[in-house]
Amino acid sequence: LYNMVQDLKGNIRVYCRIRPSFVAEAINVIDFIGEDGSLVLLDPSNPHKKGRKMFNFNRVFGPTATQDEVYKDTQPLIRSVMDGYNVCIFAYGQTGSGKTHTMSGPSGGLTRDMGINYLALNDLFRISNGRKDIISYEIQVQMVEIYNEQVRDLLAEDSSTVKYPFLDIHKLEIRSCTSDNGLSLPDATVRSVKSTNDVLNLMKLGEVNRVVSSTGMNDRSSRSHCVLTVHVHGKDESGGKFHSRLHLVDLAGSERVDKSEVTGDRLKEAQYINRSLSCLGDVITALAQKNSHIPYRNSKLTLLLQDSLGGHAKTLMLAHVSPEEDSFSETITTLKFAQRVSTV
Ligand code: ADP
Ligand code: MG
Repeated sequence: LYNMVQDLKGNIRVYCRIRPSFVAEAINVIDFIGEDGSLVLLDPSNPHKKGRKMFNFNRVFGPTATQDEVYKDTQPLIRSVMDGYNVCIFAYGQTGSGKTHTMSGPSGGLTRDMGINYLALNDLFRISNGRKDIISYEIQVQMVEIYNEQVRDLLAEDSSTVKYPFLDIHKLEIRSCTSDNGLSLPDATVRSVKSTNDVLNLMKLGEVNRVVSSTGMNDRSSRSHCVLTVHVHGKDESGGKFHSRLHLVDLAGSERVDKSEVTGDRLKEAQYINRSLSCLGDVITALAQKNSHIPYRNSKLTLLLQDSLGGHAKTLMLAHVSPEEDSFSETITTLKFAQRVSTV
């Protein structure tokens, strides 16, 4: 089973991905990438021995790593969803570090560089087909965004968001779902998918709804968390049933904002993002330390994902960094956050 390899490695792991540099002549602050998941960060203001700091993760992907290579190391985790395990995958990092590239790939339909979301669903369909004599699967997807601690449905198909982009319709409440033994979004739109084409169409709809909801605001997508959830319902020959979930999360940009420079809505947004990202870090840390209290309730994101964080669920944090020297302070902050999550 896909799960066996994973069990040996524990339930929480952290990978780091460094995107290619866009500035040919810039100093690259990532000085060394090891096969063993280590990397060395170079402080550009102190390029000597003391300005070098080593970080260790389960895996590091350098700037030349392809989407397929990243997927290959994610695949066993994703496949375990077909065996009934819940899985959460988070893309973390500052805006522009490559989170959306990893999760979705370039926007605008089918390309060579499809991201984890698409490759994962493709894989799940393939497994479902391969096992169809033993288990019958139904695969459904749901897509929401969390912006300023409000959850919104991105797959609502009526045209009202298009007509009234400023109305807060499609707001969703997180409820305790006792029948399902966990928290969920009972009112979110859930769509059955049978082919990668269905998936592409839904992703397009989600993208459109996200853009529509951001009318009048400058790139809201980098300031909200986007959660694509794949529900897998399995039924075997003897009538045994399970329902597992794969959450694929493109997190809001982790960059700090200077409080002296931003005010009003922008400051409020930044505070919501900061709080929810540090809460996510706290939950993962508490789980890894096997604490008796896990602070799920401190943010909408962790509350929403509660049934898939902890227990037998598997978590992967994909920390993204930019290599250019002007990103150094965000890069070190991201690496420290990721290290904290991975070494507990
Ligand atoms: P984020 O979602 O973290 O804000 P993006 O995924 O939008 O960042 O990436 C910023 C830009 O860098 C995009 O133009 C994207 O296509 C490009 N990019 C990111 N990662 C890679 C990569 N590994 N290879 C090539 N281009 C990349
Ligand atoms: Mg993005």
